[in-house]
Amino acid sequence: MPTSGMTVGAPSWRYLPVALALVLPLLVCAGWTWLYANNAQRQEAGIAARIVRVQAERIFAQSRDMLERVAALAPGACPDLLPDLQRWGALNPYFRSLALARNSRVYCSSALGEVDASIDDFSRWPVRISPDSWPRTVAGTPLAPDRPAVLLGKSRPDGYGGIVEVDGRYVQDLLDAVATMGDFQLELIVGKGAPIRSESWGRPASHVVPLYQETADEPGGAALTVNVMAPAEALVQAWSQSMLTYLPVALLIGAGLALGAYRLQANRQSFKEQLRRAMRAGEFHVHYQPIYSLASGRCEGVEALMRWERPGSGPVRPDVFIAAAEADGMIIALTRHLLMLIERDARTWATPADFHIGVNVAAEHLSSAGLVADIQAFVANVAARRPLVVLEITEHSLISDNGQARRNIDALRAEGLRVAIDDFGTGHCSLSYLQKFPVDYLKIDKGFVQAIEPAGGEAPVLDAIITLASRLGLAVVAEGVEVQYQFDYLKARGVAFVQGYFFARPMPSVEFVRWYAGGAQPDAAA
Ligand code: C2E
Ligand code: CA
Ligand code: CA
Repeated sequence: MPTSGMTVGAPSWRYLPVALALVLPLLVCAGWTWLYANNAQRQEAGIAARIVRVQAERIFAQSRDMLERVAALAPGACPDLLPDLQRWGALNPYFRSLALARNSRVYCSSALGEVDASIDDFSRWPVRISPDSWPRTVAGTPLAPDRPAVLLGKSRPDGYGGIVEVDGRYVQDLLDAVATMGDFQLELIVGKGAPIRSESWGRPASHVVPLYQETADEPGGAALTVNVMAPAEALVQAWSQSMLTYLPVALLIGAGLALGAYRLQANRQSFKEQLRRAMRAGEFHVHYQPIYSLASGRCEGVEALMRWERPGSGPVRPDVFIAAAEADGMIIALTRHLLMLIERDARTWATPADFHIGVNVAAEHLSSAGLVADIQAFVANVAARRPLVVLEITEHSLISDNGQARRNIDALRAEGLRVAIDDFGTGHCSLSYLQKFPVDYLKIDKGFVQAIEPAGGEAPVLDAIITLASRLGLAVVAEGVEVQYQFDYLKARGVAFVQGYFFARPMPSVEFVRWYAGGAQPDAAA
């Protein structure tokens, strides 16, 4: 139910939630696809790293076997052992050279034959090595200073040892092949040695993102590390691709949410604004409920009852929107609108002079200085029909009066209008008000009529009200008469008017015109 105090802030901020509802799914989509793309890249990098590690381990396993064989050759003179070294080096893939060492000096090499070089020569590429710290990757060897290699060495207690140089080309080819999987940069490091890198390596560090590191412990005691990086642009590209895939969905969700937020916002519009808009849009109309005179046996008047039909959400109960309009200070505007609608409807009627038109007037309107002018204007506009306008006011209006209501009533009654106390008996009216206020009718609330028992039982409170009214010289209108025995009961007690479904339901003006032309009296009342 609409309530007061729902006015929202400046229009510029009003649709902020709508904008947020639209933008939020896009932001979530951007964030989520970023994570997704990152994750996918990392997974691929992980696969790439594992491929490199497995392949590298295979090469190193062969190299270790070879190292065992080379180290086992010594001791012996180089010319004696060289043929074996050369054969093994030539027939097996991967090896640049196989060499024998004695007391830290290389004395025999499959590539150079008999030599006398210090093992420390290797230390130029790039770190000092000692036989017990092998294997490791190096940036170059004395034979090929610019080409990386993997060195494996084994020393024996007798001072002899073997050295195996694995050509880094194999590792590099492997790294290059795997790098194409995802525009990766790869490097492999064995021990604390120099990294062997894929050809794609070389972008500035600020432009690459480390994606994955795979490490494994080699049986030789050194760690094998594979690092995978990717250029930042590759990540951004992967992200924008998945973003493109999910963007339409995010847009749809955003549009749906924004629409929902917009509707919510529209509903939250101040109730006043809604009423004003509804009046402008012509959503209000009036139903007329005939009032039957027992004296004449005819319909002698109607009560105008307001109806609000909201497009899309159907009718709003009058007691609900009337109460809300009263709470929001809109009831006067709404009643003026009602009067205007009645004026329009009444032009089509064929009712005689003095036909009663009952109009409900709320307390605030009754005690406002503008009431008399409003009603005078109304009376002037329906003058062609010369109806008798009856203001239906509540007991509450009388109690809360500070004088203005009384002045209004006096002024209007002086001009020939009538006043009815509506829903009599349901409010907290002190009977003294009835003496103080000059009124014409008592409308007995339907609750008392419904208290009439079907089998001719008594309804003492109803009887008391009817008696009271006649003593005060007020005509009684009984509301909510639905069945024959209620009608009979009221008729027997001299009630002047009845209103209720038994006689007729409230109906739109067109229907009322037809109904009125058709005789306008119930069979049972005849
Ligand atoms: P109310 O002034 O007491 O109006 C009579 C109500 O009783 C109407 O309900 C009417 O439809 C209903 N009614 C008529 N005959 C019978 C019957 O035989 N049995 C039963 N059970 N009900 C019957 P409605 O139209 O829903 O209006 C409810 C209330 O809303 C009205 O009570 C009145 O207080 C207020 N209201 C309606 N229109 C206006 C208006 O234009 N201005 C103001 N200020 N209040 C209005
Ligand atoms: Ca009424
Ligand atoms: Ca009533």
